Amino acid sequence: MRYSSNGDGAQHRDAGRYSAGPRDLPRVTILTANVGGGHMAASRSLIEALDGKAHVKQVSMIDDHAPFPLNTWGPTYAPWVNYTPWLYRLVYRFGASRERIVTTQKAFYPLLRSYVASMVRPNEADLFISVHPLEIEMPLWLMAETGQRVPFATVVTDPVTAPLAWFCPDVDLCVVATQPAYETGLSCGLTPDRLKLIGLPIRRAFGEMQGRDKSDLRARLGLAPKKSLVLMSGGGAGIGRIVPMARAVAKRLAQQERDVQLAIVAGRNKELQRRLGRQKWPIPVRVLGFVDNMAEWMRASDLLLTKAGPGMLAEAACLGLPVVITDFIPGQEIGNVSWVVKNGAGLYEHEIEGIAAVVGELLRPGNPTLEMMSAQARAMARPNASDEIVAATLRLIER
Ligand code: UDP
Repeated sequence: MRYSSNGDGAQHRDAGRYSAGPRDLPRVTILTANVGGGHMAASRSLIEALDGKAHVKQVSMIDDHAPFPLNTWGPTYAPWVNYTPWLYRLVYRFGASRERIVTTQKAFYPLLRSYVASMVRPNEADLFISVHPLEIEMPLWLMAETGQRVPFATVVTDPVTAPLAWFCPDVDLCVVATQPAYETGLSCGLTPDRLKLIGLPIRRAFGEMQGRDKSDLRARLGLAPKKSLVLMSGGGAGIGRIVPMARAVAKRLAQQERDVQLAIVAGRNKELQRRLGRQKWPIPVRVLGFVDNMAEWMRASDLLLTKAGPGMLAEAACLGLPVVITDFIPGQEIGNVSWVVKNGAGLYEHEIEGIAAVVGELLRPGNPTLEMMSAQARAMARPNASDEIVAATLRLIER
């Protein structure tokens, strides 16, 4: 990693370079953050969709450019949500007023301006796309100050109850995934010509996995090809009550003699991975850390147990994978629960024993519910959202 100093004593990591390609392509900077897994996954999906259409650079203002303690948000996200959800709820409620959001960011701006400047570099970019709600206002202020205003788009990665910080009315385009988010955008002052309802960006691998044979994939993943597979995940950060939940589900499935195997993705939560690795299981269980081939794991599965992370839910829908939602992050993820349940693509159950009972029942031989939910999930999927978003954002440069 290279460092540079801008003369005020602050050390900044180098913001990286644009991807190579023919000279005449536009330069696009994607602003993201390594908090949870959803923002990085959204950024990656846009980078894939921009391939051959633009030189792309991904910048994480919070992880790579913000000073301590802001730069510890990524690593502390899981414990924060797991142990102090009330604090998360409080922050969400605080953000229920755009005036408060803007005033707070304005108060921090003088302290952070040099960091923002080291990242934004509007003289280098033709277009900015932000996939994080706290990486919108400050870059726009910097551009206004320096007189180098470049087209700026936001892609809202919270589909329903998105924090209002997402909806800055000064952007050139704001992409949302559902009608309620569209309405919120309007209420925050975005005009219809700057607001587009497309969907959540998901990576190309999920579209490519559609229709792939589950048994083949299970064999490739080193699993029993003919056994049903239940996948458990707490998102990129491994959030939630995964250990007691997995124990209860495995016990119930063993008692009911279901021919089932379980795969548990701990994400970046190493402690969770270690704890899961120490358990004795009554059915076959595979414990995984952060996987890069989530599309394969999802396509190989018959049922997903997850918190209401938007990325996981949109990806599961794309693959027709039914979901039992077991947790949600207060505020921003609550709307995702009804999004899935109302569409018939999954169920919500919070109690550990209730979750085990629901899973056992869904996997009862002859129960048609999983198949019905799978069809509903496919109906709500937007597998081409990334390509559509990229087309809409690149049009901003053509204007
Ligand atoms: N993910 C992944 N590998 C893992 C765990 C998660 O690629 O081991 C991805 C997952 O496919 C999804 C994202 O991380 O794209 C999680 O995003 P989501 O919005 O569901 O929840 P978050 O982690 O942001 O809270």
